[in-house]
Amino acid sequence: MVERPINVVKELIENSLDAGATRITVEIADGGSELIRITDDGCGITPEDLPVAVERFATSKAQTVEDVYNISTFGFRGEALAAIGAVSNLQIKSHREGFEPSEINVKFGELSPLLPTAISKGTQISVSKLFNNLPVRRKFLKSARSSEAEILKFIKHFTLINPSLEVIVIFDGEEVYRTYSSQSALDLAKAVFAEDRMMSAHSAYDGCEVDVCASHVAVQRKRRDSIYIGVNGRVIKDAALTQAVVQAYYRLIPGDSYPMAVVNIRLDPASVDVNIHPTKSEVRFESPSELFHYVKSTVEDAIRKFTAAIYAEEADDPALTEMEEAKPTHVFTEEEKRTPFLTARPAFDLRKELKSVPTISIGRADPAPTMNEPSNPMDYKVIGQLDNTYIICETPLGELMIIDQHVAHERILYEKYTNERTQAVPSIVLFDAVVLNNLTAEELECLEAIEGDLNGFGYSYEPFGGNAVKVSRVPLAVSKKDIGKEFLGILSDAIEMKRSKRHDGTILTMSCRNAVKAGDTLSNHDMNYIVNTLFKTQNPHTCPHGRPIVFVMPKATLASNFQRSI
Ligand code: ADP
Ligand code: MG
Repeated sequence: MVERPINVVKELIENSLDAGATRITVEIADGGSELIRITDDGCGITPEDLPVAVERFATSKAQTVEDVYNISTFGFRGEALAAIGAVSNLQIKSHREGFEPSEINVKFGELSPLLPTAISKGTQISVSKLFNNLPVRRKFLKSARSSEAEILKFIKHFTLINPSLEVIVIFDGEEVYRTYSSQSALDLAKAVFAEDRMMSAHSAYDGCEVDVCASHVAVQRKRRDSIYIGVNGRVIKDAALTQAVVQAYYRLIPGDSYPMAVVNIRLDPASVDVNIHPTKSEVRFESPSELFHYVKSTVEDAIRKFTAAIYAEEADDPALTEMEEAKPTHVFTEEEKRTPFLTARPAFDLRKELKSVPTISIGRADPAPTMNEPSNPMDYKVIGQLDNTYIICETPLGELMIIDQHVAHERILYEKYTNERTQAVPSIVLFDAVVLNNLTAEELECLEAIEGDLNGFGYSYEPFGGNAVKVSRVPLAVSKKDIGKEFLGILSDAIEMKRSKRHDGTILTMSCRNAVKAGDTLSNHDMNYIVNTLFKTQNPHTCPHGRPIVFVMPKATLASNFQRSI
């Protein structure tokens, strides 16, 4: 669909990306209506393929109509150059290693014979006199200025999604934008957004990698147009994934505000449905809900890192040098600390409060298992989940093993909390403190008794007159839930524990509450984490309450059910 210079630029840049270019130069004259020239250092086109490249549906790779929808490079195949050649003076100079550098020209659909040319490795495509044969369309082209703005905006987004490329943009002979391969994705995002308060996070899931640069909760935009999504190097539009980013900030920023973020997804092209959308900017994923979850939790990781970095700044602890990466390059001014997100308390109080948090290293408050924990898939093979409650595995001896996901995770957390005296729970000062009224004398007394423990788990609260208590800080993960309900739940569990006189009552309560529940759908990654971490705990067979965790069906039992001798 060639309608405007921006469409040409987009197609040509994406072709360069497909050709494996590491450096792309974009030259524009008069907003693109005079000249669009893209030069890359990609694989180049052979002389034999040059005429083919400009024929509709007849690219070197597309042999059949089905091939036209070639998913590996993500879009419609073999249309763009032909379409551009039909409405402009198109010149392609290309040099593939081992072949003669050659040039081909198409003038408003008329193909000229192949010529020898001089060009170093790569391809240079020049489009001039765009729409000269379509006077009405040419007349309605945007002004050069707004066309330039549109092109630059696209290229900026494209480079955010492809941060390792070197891209140079020249408007009417003047360089207006340049990225460097040595620049990190985070530095690039900071520069493009003109915002220092950004943090990056990376996650790898089954066949899918997610890289995120996301803004601190103090950055609040009135529109969601600063959230960019990319898949396999393409900038796409995806309402659900944008929503995944927004949800990661739920309760952390006001409901009518949005963060800035770049979400870069790399996955197997086969799991992306080639899209029917003419501008190729929308795609369909094979497992959209998993992807939603991946994106949301990676953004949450980035937010958590930021929170942890603020703690580190407060704590001046030499053990925290490993936090270097998480440290914001931006030092918060007193003014910034008083942003709406922090107004639950005055800035000074907030800092004091953060100091009282016993733990400062990066950890997960998230009830979901840590995704990046090393696992050893050689030991236990996860077969799948049964009834959203049990994990089915094969043991190294080839037996069937069934694990109760909740108690297994509870055991893991119990040992983690017991061993790491400090719980490493990133928490957040609430945007709106939650007040709980009408507590009983027993409840108030219990809250006082376990305050030290609960502080370590990320909670801060204080009496609020009469029988009320005000909860002002909660773990990051809990901030998204019904805080009152969660807090009262912990309280009632703690009272129960107190009555049964367990000395490790709070740890037990928190292990249980933070563990995945029966009924939670787990990804393969989560299951592998639970199974492999479980068998590193001291007692993988019973939960801290004494319930069994693992059930193994002996081979003989299975065999006898099939009247098979072993
Ligand atoms: P598509 O990219 O969908 O295949 P295009 O019309 O955009 O269709 O390009 C046609 C073909 O020309 C491509 O398949 C590719 O083989 C070749 N080509 C286009 N641009 C380049 C480039 N910059 N470097 C190498 N090959 C290119
Ligand atoms: Mg193309």
